[in-house]
Amino acid sequence: MSRVFNFSAGPAALPLEVLETIREDLPDWQGTGMSVMEISHRSKQFVALAARAEANVRELLSIPDDYSVLFPQGGATLQMAMAPLNLTAPGDTADYVVTGSWGKKAAGEAGKFCDARVVADASDEKFTYIPDESSWNRSDDAAYLHYTPNETIAGVEFHFVPGGDVPLVADMSSTILSRPIDVSRFGVIYAGAQKNIGPAGITLVIVRNDLLERVRPGNAHLMTWKAYAESDSMTNTPPTFAWYVADLVFRYLKDRGGLGAVAEVNERKARKLYAAIDNSAFYSNPVREDCRSWMNVPFILADDALDSKFLEESNAAGLTNLKGHRSVGGMRASIYNAVGEDAVDTLIDFMSHFEMNHA
Ligand SMILES: *Cc1c(COP(=O)(O)O)cnc(C)c1O
Repeated sequence: MSRVFNFSAGPAALPLEVLETIREDLPDWQGTGMSVMEISHRSKQFVALAARAEANVRELLSIPDDYSVLFPQGGATLQMAMAPLNLTAPGDTADYVVTGSWGKKAAGEAGKFCDARVVADASDEKFTYIPDESSWNRSDDAAYLHYTPNETIAGVEFHFVPGGDVPLVADMSSTILSRPIDVSRFGVIYAGAQKNIGPAGITLVIVRNDLLERVRPGNAHLMTWKAYAESDSMTNTPPTFAWYVADLVFRYLKDRGGLGAVAEVNERKARKLYAAIDNSAFYSNPVREDCRSWMNVPFILADDALDSKFLEESNAAGLTNLKGHRSVGGMRASIYNAVGEDAVDTLIDFMSHFEMNHA
């Protein structure tokens, strides 16, 4: 077996321990003589899995009791529509802070269902900063404020939680479970699974219970958070395999010592990589220092004619998926929870050798 160091932005690396458990479990899960994909989601084994997954994610994130934990399908993108459909009536106002491509997409989607106002927009500097909170042009009557704590493409992360009285709705797809958070500061948190949770196909949504009641009359059943809350996310057949892997990942994170321990490693990984970039005249990262992402680290080479050589040689060295997003160019190393410190150390070594050989 040969595993590479995988810096994919998503779907992203999974812990090897989890993959090995899946391989072991696959043909005969829990003595059923069947795989987890071949049994009813209403079987006692699967219902127990679902309960354990919820209990573990509640423990990992210290989710207060007055919040529901939901596991719908549709990814983060569907939640961009479900937020306005569950929190606004037609014509209501919702505020959007746009610090990257995902926030922009969320605002565009919400605009179909409510009066979605962009109250801060960092596109003027190619999404390399977070506009000062005091400059946000917030509405008096907003039903909620939506923002993207970590913008995956440009690598911009909030290292603070915005203030104010309206419920915060946060797309945490690429930062969830990377560190402890104070869930009580949020109205709604949502995250597609394929970065820090598990395979694509399942979504984590955490909603404060009072907000479940705001749903628009006539909303489609599968677009209604309350329907998931009332059915333990078994509204219809759930993505059982993805849920099973998410359960293994939650257990793996607990075994690592929980999110405090995970955060310590993540911070160290990010700090090392940014230091290597900043200390070189050959690599650079355009993001303002106080809002650099722990999870997605874009960097450009001084000479973009060397990009293809960098990708070719890094691949040959077992470092994959480093090509940057087309809107930013250069490289991007996504260093989610399952990307170990050894991967980051190996990348830094490779970068330094590449610079010596080609700069
Ligand atoms: C990956 C990503 C998405 C898209 O997630 P899907 O599950 O594919 O819909 C949305 N927002 C952010 C911040 C992301 O990183």
